[in-house]
Amino acid sequence: MAHVLRTKACWIAGESVEGSGERHVVVDPATDTPVAELRHATIAEVDAAVAAARLAQKSWGTTTPAERSSVLAAFADAIDAAAEDLAQEEVAQTGKAVRLAREFDVPGSVDNARFFAGAARNLEGKATAEYSPDHTSSIRREPMGVVGSITPWNYPLQMAVWKVLPALAAGCAVVLKPAELTPLTTLTLARLATESGLPDGVFNVVVGTGIEVGAELAGHRGVDMVTFTGSTGVGRAVMSQAAANGTRVQLELGGKAPFVVFDDADLDAAVQGAVAGSLINAGQDCTAATRAIVAPELYDDFVAGVADVMSSVVMGDPRSAATDLGSLVSRAHRDKVAGMVDRARAAGARIVVGGEVPAGPGAFYPPTLVADVDEHSEIYRDEVFGPVLTVSSFTDDDDAIRRANDTVYGLAASAWTRDVYRAGRASREIHAGCVWINDHIPIISEMPHGGVGASGFGKDMSTYSLDEYLAIKHVMSDITGKAEKNWHRTVFADPTRTS
Ligand code: NAD
Repeated sequence: MAHVLRTKACWIAGESVEGSGERHVVVDPATDTPVAELRHATIAEVDAAVAAARLAQKSWGTTTPAERSSVLAAFADAIDAAAEDLAQEEVAQTGKAVRLAREFDVPGSVDNARFFAGAARNLEGKATAEYSPDHTSSIRREPMGVVGSITPWNYPLQMAVWKVLPALAAGCAVVLKPAELTPLTTLTLARLATESGLPDGVFNVVVGTGIEVGAELAGHRGVDMVTFTGSTGVGRAVMSQAAANGTRVQLELGGKAPFVVFDDADLDAAVQGAVAGSLINAGQDCTAATRAIVAPELYDDFVAGVADVMSSVVMGDPRSAATDLGSLVSRAHRDKVAGMVDRARAAGARIVVGGEVPAGPGAFYPPTLVADVDEHSEIYRDEVFGPVLTVSSFTDDDDAIRRANDTVYGLAASAWTRDVYRAGRASREIHAGCVWINDHIPIISEMPHGGVGASGFGKDMSTYSLDEYLAIKHVMSDITGKAEKNWHRTVFADPTRTS
């Protein structure tokens, strides 16, 4: 039997700390075998972590940008040095293909950490100046304080890095609650931070249930800002928990990305892009291509091409470098995905490839193409979060844009065309935090990620995300030295009252 790691659920004040809650087993979803065991954190550990963060933030928040930058650069190097261990740990808890972990999750995390090590030294604001003749005004950008972060299970390491690094660069301290299905790489990340010289208490982790630990963190009076990545429903619950204290919130929520193929598109590029964009991370990606909306002239060829490429995808052992598609994160989630495809089939949609749960162990689900979907159907409107792409058609450019926007979500979208005016129109008129032209998925540390509508608000990555963790303070200094200021005339009727 494979080794089961016995670990502790918390990293508080630079140490591994046992949770006082119930026993929890982390399962490898590709083999249905346990990989780690811990006792969940409870409210007591949340309190301890927030207290440690409050204490540590006082001095971390007054370090110079250069000091923070140098610790974060060492942290980035430590993540890089642990790359293969992190990739294996990520595979064990998520079931994702190791190639993705090695080529995307881990290097993306290293790059993001390196970016924020540099960004820590690039705070910007308006010029100090005399905007009134009697005063000098200047801007201070100060850390928000203690940040409560809550992350999902799809990219556990990257989501933690996206939340933690900008907060640390800004001078905040963090208490992070990862998803209970996938806590391991987040705990490793916290250990690496301490080993890299990050002062104790600046980055803390508490692993526990959303309903207890997540809710407590979001509503904690000692937390100055809450940042959440996860589903739209839970994000709204988190927002209302934070609202009890009037706490600033940033939400990165679900998506239902349209993939619009105009009649002048490069069909081969669109086909390849649709398969890669819908199957990345087994479709458990909030920006994944989910709704292909294809010009009638290209529709049949697009469906045939996508079916062909999907059929060549290798699903299986996530630890093999030859595997394209690992398992989904859990059997429960796989059953949810399968249920949505089954209901689409029953409602008359055409399952072109996939759509059947394979026999054997693991939470596997094959690449699935669902054609001729009704635009009112569940599979077209709701987030599937699996390796499933739907295809439907449109009548003209207005209809294509209308269909792209016919969703409550607004995280990401793509438009495929060789016509610069169509591309320009799509990028202007599609409501989303990101619109790709002739591609779908790439992200980059310098550019922001975040949605509109039911996909949330605020940004991860880039210097825009740094802004989330900074409070802007205006300092206005009198430069006249007079007791009676010029503006006092708006209060006192008699200008001679003191003479
Ligand atoms: P989820 O909403 O179920 O859980 C996210 C986190 O919230 C977990 O840590 C969970 O334990 C916690 N949680 C659950 N209930 C809570 C509560 N009442 N109070 C506080 N915390 C609570 O999401 P998931 O299933 O882990 O992840 C998948 C979802 O995440 C998808 O909807 C996906 O689109 C979204 N996602 C969005 C982005 C983005 O950048 N917009 C990125 C990745 C994932």
